[in-house]
Amino acid sequence: MREQTSILIIYTGGTIGMVQDPKSGVLKPLTFKNLYRYLPVLENFDYQFDFYTFRPLLDSSNMSPSFWIELAKVIEENYESFDGFVVLHGSDTMAYTASALSFMLENLNKPVIFTGSQLPLGMVRTDGRENFINSIEIAAASEQETPVVPEVAICFENKLYRGNRTTKFNAEHFGAFVSGNYPVLAEVGVYIRYYGDLILKPNFKKLKVHKELDENIAILKLFPGINQNIVRNTLTTPGLKAVILETFGAGNAPTVAWFLDLLKEAVENGIVLFNVTQCKGGSVDIGKYETSAELGKIGVIGGTDITTESAVTKLMYLLGCGFPKKEVERLLQVSLRGEMTV
Ligand code: ASP
Repeated sequence: MREQTSILIIYTGGTIGMVQDPKSGVLKPLTFKNLYRYLPVLENFDYQFDFYTFRPLLDSSNMSPSFWIELAKVIEENYESFDGFVVLHGSDTMAYTASALSFMLENLNKPVIFTGSQLPLGMVRTDGRENFINSIEIAAASEQETPVVPEVAICFENKLYRGNRTTKFNAEHFGAFVSGNYPVLAEVGVYIRYYGDLILKPNFKKLKVHKELDENIAILKLFPGINQNIVRNTLTTPGLKAVILETFGAGNAPTVAWFLDLLKEAVENGIVLFNVTQCKGGSVDIGKYETSAELGKIGVIGGTDITTESAVTKLMYLLGCGFPKKEVERLLQVSLRGEMTV
């Protein structure tokens, strides 16, 4: 007899787990004891569920690398016992957590599906019910005993995205996420339509969980008029190892001498500079315009179409692995988990 599919539901916090106190109207966290009250349909699934709750529950703005490490440990400890994982998480920083986990969970061969909602589960019009149920179906889906989605993904508003390709772009719409440079992995309608060619393939190797993350990085978002002191102070922050330069368009930046000199100095001081576009779609192409050619000469690394969320977490991961600068720079240009087009 086939064993029952088992899913571990990991509850970290966020709007999805909120219910409204009928008397005060205040939102308070849901406990798993009354989850079935709000989602009685869970009883109809022919899956075995188990629940893991983080204490304290966190609004996702309070998530940090130490939380990502805890989450990775929970998955590692339960990896062999479950067929798939559903992570309930606030949407605000979900793209960061999903990106981080994609790097930390090397050789992932099971689904880790993040979901949340814009309206609490305890509200009549909640989007959480649908997001949650779709995520369970996706985490449980298998073909010939192989998971259909063996990667870290985000399921929101009937779409499944590769986690490290997403950005939260809307604070009100139920469709809160965009994956500007990679198509959706699946769409939920009457059927769940999986786009198998776009989904990572399992490698059947043993899971390796990386638990060292180095936070000594910064993002320098360019804007017309950015001043010399701001750039200098950022690039000379004590302990700094890498900076994401959020550039314009196809990776362009001012060509004024003081700016280029400061970047050059930073590279000479051993800081990794990673060029990521501010655009939500399209790619950095160093050398396409005169305004990016100089960056290439200085030794700034082009991030092609990586998101800022993915760039932040990939840098923390690579620096956490303790690779020398040259190796970090090489791996930044390689797609490790499908996070960029190369
Ligand atoms: N502030 C909430 C959070 O990210 C919003 C949400 O759950 O979507 O935790």
